Amino acid sequence: TDTQTALATRHVPEGLPSRIQHYIDGEFVDSADGDTFDVLDPVTNETYVQAAAGKKADIDRAVAAARRAFTEGPWPRMLPRERSRVLHRIADIVESRDARLAELESFDSGLPITQALGQARRAAENFRFFADLIVAQADDAYKVPGRQMNYVNRKPIGVAGLITPWNTPFMLESWKLGPALATGNTVVLKPAEFTPLSASLWAGIFEEAGLPKGVFNLVNGLGEDAGDALVKHPDVPLISFTGESRTGQIIFGNAAPFLKGLSMELGGKSPAVVFADADLDAAIDATIFGVFSLNGERCTAGSRILVERPIYDEFVKRYAAQADRVVVGYPHDPKTEVGALVHPEHYDKVVSYIEIGKSEARLVAGGDRPDGFETGNFVRPTVFADVAPDARIFQEEIFGPVVAITPFDTDEEALELANGVRYGLAAYVWTNDLKRAHNFSQAIEAGMVWLNSNNVRDLRTPFGGVKASGLGHEGGYRSIDFYTDQQAVHITL
Ligand code: NAD
Repeated sequence: TDTQTALATRHVPEGLPSRIQHYIDGEFVDSADGDTFDVLDPVTNETYVQAAAGKKADIDRAVAAARRAFTEGPWPRMLPRERSRVLHRIADIVESRDARLAELESFDSGLPITQALGQARRAAENFRFFADLIVAQADDAYKVPGRQMNYVNRKPIGVAGLITPWNTPFMLESWKLGPALATGNTVVLKPAEFTPLSASLWAGIFEEAGLPKGVFNLVNGLGEDAGDALVKHPDVPLISFTGESRTGQIIFGNAAPFLKGLSMELGGKSPAVVFADADLDAAIDATIFGVFSLNGERCTAGSRILVERPIYDEFVKRYAAQADRVVVGYPHDPKTEVGALVHPEHYDKVVSYIEIGKSEARLVAGGDRPDGFETGNFVRPTVFADVAPDARIFQEEIFGPVVAITPFDTDEEALELANGVRYGLAAYVWTNDLKRAHNFSQAIEAGMVWLNSNNVRDLRTPFGGVKASGLGHEGGYRSIDFYTDQQAVHITL
């Protein structure tokens, strides 16, 4: 069987900007040195716009503006209820523009339009969630009878540096912007250089919602220039980073001399473990979605599927057939389930892993480009079976529509396989045995486990990974904790 394809014509949104600039202290500006970089359309790999390439001088300007807004401006001093109103207005505006946001995001990143629409709505929900949380925030007080009364004075920290990746860029930016702003900090955002289009929309949204000038600043540019300068800026006391584990290590080192607060959401190679007693139809549907949605460019992708031996052959056969039915097409086509990978460099990386996989394991679906797509970063959903645990496609994050399936015989072996990688972001477990479900889930080295479930987020739960997948957790009150100082005030009675 062959991959299904949707061959509608290519779509270029109307009203694309003629260039993408920084946004500093309430103004759109070019780089101080006038430098720009090319932004490509992933369907043709042609440059469709130039973006300002920020350097240290631009970061310095943005941090100075954010610092002024923090020390002199109203934002950190406003009542939580007042900040909450602004955040709700941001959510309303994002929601009312979800179709346009999705159109631009899908064009810039290659994500299927229906999925980009879902991400735009999630971005609005992230703002709404932290708008609600901040007004419900209560801090602890401790009584030592007759002697002391002690309480927590929670304060925003200052200028938060936010560095984000190119996968679901707008939504992931909102996951940092929401709590950083709700808690009264000011920010400098450095979005990913592959996908700067949607980030530039925040400026207009925030202005319209009434966010004071200088609270939000945006500097585009390469990680080693703009990102690096932000990490090394002495007036930025905390960095929230989402991206590759390797980049996280570099940032960790660069932030060390300043002893900065760090939150790191890094890479993954998450297992989906399917026991023979599982609901097989549900497990196949969910594990297909788990690795092929968002083009497989998803930190929590279930990119390794471990299947208990008695159902292994049937699972592989049905899984491969279903992977072939996943529709590859132009990002703007509503029928499309896998669009174009974000950038030719990333496409080359994914394709090189597919070639490695062909020498390491048995290819049962995909493995090449879909028919009819001459240009752009299109890859067929690709499935390898009989993947050994020391194979590179078992160990390394591919971050594309490629999955490795491996059999196991016992619970112990399944656990060893699940934990036998350097990452520990997410895990998915499929079984109808109640005790096994809990015992196995709790033993997995992963920050998040979904039992008999797809990756469905509850914004109150901790989000983050263990091992090479991250440092610290965000989500719910943990985000509030990361973006605030908790000062202890002691009173002798
Ligand atoms: P990346 O690490 O290449 O880049 C992420 C950001 O860091 C970009 O804005 C980049 O410009 C910047 N950067 C690069 N080098 C830098 C440096 N030296 N100093 C400061 N900033 C620098 O990651 P990517 O390719 O954009 O994103 C994909 C990766 O992100 C995958 O590994 C994926 O698993 C991970 N990710 C993790 C989560 C999570 O929540 N755990 C979520 C999404 C993506």
